[in-house]
Amino acid sequence: MVFAGPPTGALTRMLAEFESLAMDNRETTTASVPQILQDRFGRHVTYLRMSVTDRCDFRCVYCMTESMRFLPRAQVLTLEELWQVAKAFTELGVTKIRLTGGEPLVRRNILWLLREIAVLPGLGELVITTNGSQLESMAQDLRTAGVKRVNISLDSLRRDRFRRLTRKGDLAQVLRGIEAALVAGFERVKLNSVILKDRNHDEVLDLVQFAVESGVDISFIEEMPLGLVDEHDRLVTYYSSDQIRQDLAQRFDLLPTTESTGGPARYYRIPGITTRVGFISPHSHNFCSSCNRVRLTAEGRLLLCLGQEHSRDLRRELRAYPGDEAHLKQCIGEAMAIKPQGHEFDLSEQSVLFRHMNMTGG
Ligand code: SAM
Ligand code: SF4
Repeated sequence: MVFAGPPTGALTRMLAEFESLAMDNRETTTASVPQILQDRFGRHVTYLRMSVTDRCDFRCVYCMTESMRFLPRAQVLTLEELWQVAKAFTELGVTKIRLTGGEPLVRRNILWLLREIAVLPGLGELVITTNGSQLESMAQDLRTAGVKRVNISLDSLRRDRFRRLTRKGDLAQVLRGIEAALVAGFERVKLNSVILKDRNHDEVLDLVQFAVESGVDISFIEEMPLGLVDEHDRLVTYYSSDQIRQDLAQRFDLLPTTESTGGPARYYRIPGITTRVGFISPHSHNFCSSCNRVRLTAEGRLLLCLGQEHSRDLRRELRAYPGDEAHLKQCIGEAMAIKPQGHEFDLSEQSVLFRHMNMTGG
């Protein structure tokens, strides 16, 4: 078993127990353990997004309410459980893992988890999505831990507006975090901007200009109806990717590409410039037919689709069958049968999903 530098002696003991339990179970269960993950529609699942915590130091208006209540700790997967899930997925052919949240960098000992996942055989890419608040002090450690690329959320370059959108965020701190990420030498840094009409849509040109000057990529995201938010009406603030592209055409020549980073973004290039401009458009350009990913919620629910509730409770399995790797892989394999064909996002209130993005692992 590949397991370097566990944080506690208890953990080492636990893993040794797991290993012997797994040996006991091997004869009865390995015969039917799947080797790759494929759903009913022939799509291969090669990408896992893990929400490592539902907690966050921001309260972005499109993600949660100001009075958001977080899960009791016992309901959230432990770092060891997260590692076991990551290991099982890589053994089932997953080559890319993203840690997200909530804010992944506020989870205690997250560097330990990153280091352990980074060395799992078969994993090609370990990446992270963060709001940037902790990057100033953590960027170098993340790079050393084996994180290849980092996505940083940035919805505004105006201090007051940034605070209003995030409710708690400090723009200067996030900009210092972006700087630290550039210095740390990640293979790629990308900004993510959720654009809302009349809130920050007038900044799309400035945001791309900032990305170009910083030498990073940028993706614009259409707001999704995940979790109830009370600060605005999503139907009213909807701003389409097509509209953003029209706005950008005032200053930038955007050429479509077939490039992909393994996610849902459609990328455009500006001639002579390294920056790529991406669009994640769940409403206007549905990307489900090429879906290669599943998500693990902070409480260990394996979600087969961002916009549907089809799921398998892996926390229950992990805790009922401690250390039984074959059983865990069996459950993951079975879950492929319920991966839906696609999401049915609709911005009208009636169809809003109760689950917030911070739980889901956006
Ligand atoms: N806290 C980290 C961050 O903000 O980057 C990681 C988690 S956050 C849930 C991941 C991404 O989801 C962010 O880029 C955020 O802007 C985006 N997001 C959150 N709520 C969203 C929503 N309702 N619709 C679309 N994107 C959303
Ligand atoms: Fe926190 Fe990210 Fe949600 Fe903002 S989008 S509240 S930073 S989890």
